Amino acid sequence: MKIADGIEMLKLPMNIMGMERIIYPTLIFDNDTVILVDAGVTNSLPEIKRAMEDTGVPFDRLNKIIVTHQDIDHIGGIKPIIDELPVVEVLAHEEDKPYIQGEKKIIRLNSNFMERINALPEDEREKIIDMFENAHVKVNKTITDGEELDYCGGIIVIHTPGHTPGHICLYHKKSKTLIVGDAMNVVEGQLIGPNKLSMNDEEEELAINSLKKFEKYDIKNIISYHGGLFNDNPNQRIKELY
Ligand SMILES: [Zn+2]
Repeated sequence: MKIADGIEMLKLPMNIMGMERIIYPTLIFDNDTVILVDAGVTNSLPEIKRAMEDTGVPFDRLNKIIVTHQDIDHIGGIKPIIDELPVVEVLAHEEDKPYIQGEKKIIRLNSNFMERINALPEDEREKIIDMFENAHVKVNKTITDGEELDYCGGIIVIHTPGHTPGHICLYHKKSKTLIVGDAMNVVEGQLIGPNKLSMNDEEEELAINSLKKFEKYDIKNIISYHGGLFNDNPNQRIKELY
């Protein structure tokens, strides 16, 4: 779905742990740069190609992937992309970098998420553990809070810890679009706060506090990775969430 010139919200089916879900990665582009924000899971590649073709941006023009955080449904699709397009650079926040690179164990694997994995049927369990073990990629560039990336008219990095320590959101200046990853969600058309299930009390407080950082941006569109687009006066709605 076209959000504005040079920014598209992709819509892909994603199958993870035996469940069919929809995800909304974002594509930001100009004549020099094509950026995918979050990359789905290991088997998302054909869907990513199809969704990119639909926007008119050929897959082989892709040259950057920015990941909002380390979770498997955001990083799992990177490796298959890089195998085909080795020029693609991966950008992430410094605090999630060691998890993405495999130097630290991905946070979800230390939490009650593991109980859910263990409760799966044998073949599903093997598939998901395999996916975690093979998802690690090198982060080529770390990005920091407040940094403006000189791509596609300017993209501002906003560090929003809580869901993970190095979770980031991105503000695309030209279209006034805030890409929020998992920092907020959209359910039945309404913008809501972060998913509390995966966080302890301390992380939840951090995540809610992170929302205050959006106040200084003039936001026309919000793209949530699991919920899609929200454009009904976002600034006012965000204030109701903290
Ligand atoms: Zn997610």
